[in-house]
Order: sequence, then structure tokens, then C-alpha cells
Amino acid sequence: MAASVVDRVVVTKVVARLEAAIRAARAPVAVRVVVAKRSNHCSQQQVCGVIIDPAHNNKFIMKQTILALIRPKLNLSQPEDQILHLIEHILMSPERQEKIGLDEKKFAKDIFSCSGYISELYCAEYYVVRSTAANSIKKIILSNRNNLCLDKVKLQTIKKILIQELDEEKTHEISLGEQFEKAIYQKKSPALQQPWFNTKKLIEFDVNKNNINKIFKKFNQPLMLFELSFDNYKIPKKIKIEKNLLKKKLKLIHLNHPYQSTKTASVEILIPMIFNSNDFINFDIYRTLLVDYDFGILYKKMRQNGFIYDLSINYNMYANAVQISFSCSKNKVYKVLAFIKNFMKAKQIISEKYLNLIKDKIATNYELDWGNISDSAPYYIKETLLGEFYLSPQEGIKKIKKITAKDINKFHKNIYDGLEKNSITVFLNYGRKVSKKVH
Ligand SMILES: [Zn+2]
Repeated sequence: MAASVVDRVVVTKVVARLEAAIRAARAPVAVRVVVAKRSNHCSQQQVCGVIIDPAHNNKFIMKQTILALIRPKLNLSQPEDQILHLIEHILMSPERQEKIGLDEKKFAKDIFSCSGYISELYCAEYYVVRSTAANSIKKIILSNRNNLCLDKVKLQTIKKILIQELDEEKTHEISLGEQFEKAIYQKKSPALQQPWFNTKKLIEFDVNKNNINKIFKKFNQPLMLFELSFDNYKIPKKIKIEKNLLKKKLKLIHLNHPYQSTKTASVEILIPMIFNSNDFINFDIYRTLLVDYDFGILYKKMRQNGFIYDLSINYNMYANAVQISFSCSKNKVYKVLAFIKNFMKAKQIISEKYLNLIKDKIATNYELDWGNISDSAPYYIKETLLGEFYLSPQEGIKKIKKITAKDINKFHKNIYDGLEKNSITVFLNYGRKVSKKVH
């Protein structure tokens, strides 16, 4: 272990956990200690899990559970949606946490982190907790699901903080994100019904208990609590969350960056595809095969040709689309696009031998990434909710072993067909004022 990166308190904790793990194990064991960086508290390091891997039965013990309470934004009007952000701040305020009993005492012993966020389509209140305490914490969360503790929180202060947050976030990135979404999604799409960082409505809003409660009541259902741990996902019921709708019959969209002037263009290729649960596993393999730093065959070719520095492929769960992203010099854009299309024509994209290598790599990713869930909790929540993909990493590892090269070659063919027939390509050109041209 690299002792230089952790402080003495942490080393003491690690040693204590090692000793406890070794004492608890009857058979010979390999013990690995996961040390993760806490994201929201400066650079403090903290031990967040101990994995015991008994030599003969390969059983993992993970200590963390994500508890997520999801409130989809189903019943809100536009102005109400703006107030939802304020409600999210109330839900996660220290005053409320203290009132409901998830305060420092629980925090010190059993809670690793708690946080909330609003996505385009839902609001999440989530806690990363010690698995052995998950049941009792779950009860507290659920019994307070209708309780904003408005007697305790300082509404005017929370409003002031939120207005400042929105002012700071109105940066280049946000205005680009806004442009991008307006360009690719249909007008009636749920995300476009949300006002993009419109502080005016919020400033005008009279924050008082009655007004807040009225909106909260409307928004607070249906709601769902799910429990995600390394070896088990528990999801009580499904809530249907509307997806965004991509514009149809569009081929090319040109956007212009409002401030920056460089010789490059960013390119996003969206290929509409609805995934089933097997496709999510296939996609993990496919992504590694194409764009991974060590294993990605497309990435390596494009990089060696001097076309790109970075290449990524993601599944955009809001839009139900495979999304290929890269930047390249403006005068090479069409050449690079042609290169990608030509590459994608291949009928056999992977051999059984290379697939086995990639399967090992992904199983390792699933296993080791789970050790740092405080940073990735929003991703796991989003994948569970929007991907309708209810498999824990441990179950994923089992499933991945059954995938064959034939499966991946077939999956690749579907993506290629989608690319040819109904993909949308968005260029973000740097160096001119904002204007939008849609062909
Ligand atoms: Zn906020």
C-alpha cells in the first residue's frame, strides 16, 4: 500500500481493519483494503471498504450500500419545477438532517455521505451508508419522506444560497449544454419543459411554508426507495420516467461556441437505440472494444492517425441513444467522420480470443470501481432508474461471462445500421457568436 498518500489516522484504521478481517476469517484469505478519496471534504482520505477474498470460495464482502429516494418530476408545471431545486436544498439541509435523526452522530458511525441532485427528469436524495446499518437508516428516510421540516429550516437563507449557486453555474459549459439540448430534443420533450437556470422566477417566488408545501405535495409522488449494494440491488417497484424525445429526420446540426475561438470542433454522433438489459452488458464490452485506452481498437487507430486525442462512447439514457463524442481540427471533420463510418462497416469486429481479454478487464472494472461509490453513486442511481437495468456489479460479472463474440458482432451490426439510417451528428464549432443553423 502506498502509505505516503494517506495520513496516520487512516493507516491506523487500515491496520485495525486488516487485523479484524484476518481474525474473522477461518480459511486462508487475501485481504485488500480500499482507500477512497472523499470528494466533498477537501483531500481527506478515508477507508471505505474492506474486501475479503478467501482463497478458495472467491466471496466478496462489500460494506457500502447506496440508499436512494427517487421523486420523478411528473406533475409539475414549469414555474413549479424551478422551485423544485429549492426543495432539493431543503431536503438535504443540515437542519432537516438533524431533525430527522441523520445528523452527526449517525454520520460519524454509519453514514459515509449524503447528497441530493436534480436531473432533467427526476430528483434523487441519496445516502451512502454502512451496509449493516442500511435497514435502520432506510426506516428513517422512509418515515420522513413527507417531512420537509419547514419549522426548522431557514427558507430565506436557502433561497439566497440557491440564487448564488445558479449565478455561478451560468457558465460557458451550461450555456453550451442548453444549446445542445435545445438542438437535439423535440420541443415537447420533458427536459425542454424545464426552464434552464431561470433565476428570475425564483427571485420573484415568495418562499413561505404554504407555497413550498403545496408544490412539495404535488411533486412528492410517486416516490421510490431503492437499495444498491455490490452483490444485490433491491428495487421495490418500477416508476415510469419519461425519456427525452430526439428530433426526427435530422442529419446535421451546427452550433457555435459563444466565447472561445480555436481551430477545433467538437462532434457528437447520436444513434437512437432502445437497450434491453442484455444490451447494457453488451455495450460495456463494445465500449471497451472501441474506445478504451488499452483495449480500444477504434481509439488507437484514430489517435495514431493524428485525428483525435480523446474518444468516448456512452449510452445517453435520457435520450435512448448511443453517443460517440470527440474533438478534432475543423478542417478534418468530414475526413474523420468518413474514417469512422468506414471502420464501422466491418462485419466481424471481435474474435473470441480478444473478447475473453475484454471480459476479464470489465469484470475487474465492476469489482474495483464499486470500492469508490461515493463518487459514482449518481451514476449507479441513474443507470438503475433510467436504464431499467437492475443488476448489481456482482450479478453483472456473472452475466458477462456468458457473452460470445457472435453476440457482440450482432450488437455492432445494429449500431452500424442505426448510424447509417437515423443518426444525428452535432458539430460544435468554436470561434463564432452563438447562432444555430439546422439542416
Ligand atoms: Zn443546488
